[in-house]
Amino acid sequence: MIHKKSQKNLSIEDISTYAGRYDLDDITLSSISECGMPAKVAKQLIEDELNLDGTPILNLASFVTTWMEPEANDLIVQSLNKNFIDHDEYPQVEKLHERCVHILAELLNAPENQNYVGTGTIGSSEAIMLAGLAHKFSWRNQRKKQGKDASKPNIIMGSNVQICWDKFARYFDVEPKIIPMHKDRYHITAEDVRPLIDENTICVATILGTTFTGEYDEIEEINQLLLETKKHYGWDIPLHVDAASGGFISIFQDDKIKWDFQLEQVKSINLSGHKYGLVYPGIGWLIFKDESVIPNDLVFNVNYLGGNMPTYTLNFSRGSSMVVAQYYNFLRLGKQGYTRIVNNMMAVSNYLSQALTQHDRFSVLGTRRMEPVVTFVLNGKHHYDAYDISEQLRIYGWVVPAYSMPENAQDIIALRVVVKENFSLTLAQDFLSDLDKVIKKLDNSDNNTPQTHRHGKNIPH
Ligand SMILES: *Cc1c(COP(=O)(O)O)cnc(C)c1O
Repeated sequence: MIHKKSQKNLSIEDISTYAGRYDLDDITLSSISECGMPAKVAKQLIEDELNLDGTPILNLASFVTTWMEPEANDLIVQSLNKNFIDHDEYPQVEKLHERCVHILAELLNAPENQNYVGTGTIGSSEAIMLAGLAHKFSWRNQRKKQGKDASKPNIIMGSNVQICWDKFARYFDVEPKIIPMHKDRYHITAEDVRPLIDENTICVATILGTTFTGEYDEIEEINQLLLETKKHYGWDIPLHVDAASGGFISIFQDDKIKWDFQLEQVKSINLSGHKYGLVYPGIGWLIFKDESVIPNDLVFNVNYLGGNMPTYTLNFSRGSSMVVAQYYNFLRLGKQGYTRIVNNMMAVSNYLSQALTQHDRFSVLGTRRMEPVVTFVLNGKHHYDAYDISEQLRIYGWVVPAYSMPENAQDIIALRVVVKENFSLTLAQDFLSDLDKVIKKLDNSDNNTPQTHRHGKNIPH
């Protein structure tokens, strides 16, 4: 009797997840429903839809980390409900954050006798906005002190910059002086920068690991140029290094490129913890060589969370998990761990680069490659192009973007493979063999089939 009664009280969705047929009611999915649904049904419906996304592990397009150790995953879940900005309530999280800043400043050779400062951000984009603002305000304060016009700030950068630099210039009203690329050169040189410098230059932005080819700008030579400029004109123009993707690679490589705080004019550096810092998306870092670079009027003191807290960020509330995860990697891997991972990734990318260089169909772009990124182009005239190769590779599961190179070289369509720690040599060999199959298939395809052209596609991050 009891058994029968309890069965009668069961609702249809208690019996089976799909029995309620919520999945057919598409109207409730894009506007909020009156009465909601059971947790397991909601979870299942969302999971079913998310399954149509690509598999992060197979994504060779992105620099962003797609795998962490299970222990890191545990820590991430444990700190999901801690608001990072509540330093008073969660002082331990703040301690880990400060340790990360300290570790990075040391790795970047910040001089001990100067007061370096730094902060975790959502990513390099936020870090770059903050760095640019600090340089703009410093320049303006300096100009005002000298009684000079401070209405026309400019920033010098290459057209090889990531989109966040264009955003910085537009959002914060700074004139961008953009150096175009050449067909065989995708980095900027000191000679490119020289004619653009003037008294209104707030900063020169250089890149360690460009999004397009994984190369680096002439940072050391530009530093030298800025030292000369300081001597001749008295303009103390800061050099910023956007080390979003290349920073964590160079730090742990033996054949070190000179780019960090050892160079006198390098005053600020950003890195993406969620790229080769090997943490999931949601963490970037900004380090200033000396706290005097940040004008006081940009730092806000808040006390509504208890205690007095200086803040220099764009966002307020955010999760703590990725800060904890970054600290986990530092503790877990140490210098040797990071170095080994970096060496493995470089070895796999060198293997790929060599194979593609020897391949009669492809050429590899860039001679100043400093990170495990391989950018290549299709040689010769064919009835198909790099976009078609990208599309065909998808059938084999590989996500390899095709994109046009920056201004002045935009008719060159490149393919790019970003090697991450979980991309092994075996996978690289599988990839090359699938690439050959794709070429064979396209060679044999009908010459007259019109190709769908997908120009104007943005480069993935
Ligand atoms: C990825 C990238 C950025 C943007 O960084 P996010 O962490 O994605 O905000 C900026 N500059 C370079 C060179 C990059 O590779």
